[in-house]
Amino acid sequence: MRYGVPGRVVRRIIEGLVLFILAWSPSAVSASETIESLASQDHLAGLTIRSFLGPDNRGMVISRPGGVEISVPGPEASASGSMSVFFVNVGQGDAEYIELPNGKNALIDAGPAGRASGSGNAAPPIAEFLASRGVTRIDHVVLTHPHADHYGGLGWVFDNLQVGKFYDTGIDNSGATGDDAVRRKAAEEPDCATEHPAADDSLDWAPGVGVKVLNSCPEPSLSSSGGKDINDCSIVLKMSYGGTSLLFTGDIQSRAEAELVARYGDELRSDVLKVGHHGSAQSSTAAFLDKVRPKLAFIEVGKNSYGHPTPAALTRLASVGAQAHRTDRDGTGEFARRAEPERPVAVASAGGVSFPGR
Ligand SMILES: [Zn+2]
Repeated sequence: MRYGVPGRVVRRIIEGLVLFILAWSPSAVSASETIESLASQDHLAGLTIRSFLGPDNRGMVISRPGGVEISVPGPEASASGSMSVFFVNVGQGDAEYIELPNGKNALIDAGPAGRASGSGNAAPPIAEFLASRGVTRIDHVVLTHPHADHYGGLGWVFDNLQVGKFYDTGIDNSGATGDDAVRRKAAEEPDCATEHPAADDSLDWAPGVGVKVLNSCPEPSLSSSGGKDINDCSIVLKMSYGGTSLLFTGDIQSRAEAELVARYGDELRSDVLKVGHHGSAQSSTAAFLDKVRPKLAFIEVGKNSYGHPTPAALTRLASVGAQAHRTDRDGTGEFARRAEPERPVAVASAGGVSFPGR
């Protein structure tokens, strides 16, 4: 399911057998060259490009229901493109994948590991999603906190993809070894630094995109000492872009929520909320939601024995008017935002290109 600001979502054009998701922002000349060169290729014969959206630098993906998919990378990145955030259905666990407007990307958590099979572990649920997006590199990987429903897929990510930077909270899960293994892989990843961001830090991910850290535990600590709860050490990020804001909360619960309300107050206000701790009753407190006031609330949840999402959390979300999207019921959710009002800048077919409004 796809969401966006009404009238400004990236459009889907389904025409005949061809599904185009186009976003491109070269000059008119290079746009027409691109389309002409595509149209002249034998294996694309018969395709008609019906719409052309911009400005953007996202490249284009052309796919057909039959399974043919062609990815064309965009030209040099700019800050005027769109941002897409996917709340990935990974079963019981969290994974949010972000395509930034400058062509870079980010992954906040990677869901659980794959199921053990006879010859080892199967690929984790996140693998299929990332493959479907053609992802071979992730510029920014965030592990909100060291629980297996968040780090389980990260081993696969480090083993199979290039990672540019790893953001980690400081607390160690002393009851698990999987988090240590992931942190070792991060340390061994070529050209990948590990950072422990602190509250109030700003992360520089893309021009025009604000990424502010609101919560973390940057200092090394053990879950068994100091009374620090792992969930409440989750890295919390607020992203802002094009007048829209999103709040990613990991698995924080009432204590961290209360601290955020005291520290940030109305600054918590966000259009989109990644609901804390899979809709646990101890998260999404009324005082917190009263500050966030989300229009859309994404709950990442699968089959579980905890009763997630709880009726209590769902009721509190509904009472602030949030529309809830559950990955167990609704599948992977997407939120897309363009920096500028969307308008078609070109309509093209194999026979030629026109640029209405230019
Ligand atoms: Zn969790």
